[in-house]
Amino acid sequence: MKEVFQALHSSEIEDFIGRLGLFEKFKAGEIKCHACGDTITTDNFKALTRKGGRLVFACMKERCFLSLGSFEESK
Ligand SMILES: [Zn+2]
Repeated sequence: MKEVFQALHSSEIEDFIGRLGLFEKFKAGEIKCHACGDTITTDNFKALTRKGGRLVFACMKERCFLSLGSFEESK
């Protein structure tokens, strides 16, 4: 089953990331886009999913976000 989280509001993103226990890392700029390596912020966050128990983040660039979907399919 696909488990992709998408948020529209920055408060929603921070709340979600906080619940994952990643808020400190997020604020410290340690969360990176899986595809382009950009630091994920509330401004460029697009989606996240789980891959092999690991959380994978994608920024809002279309190719990054789309490649998150292909992760799921190739699993
Ligand atoms: Zn990216």
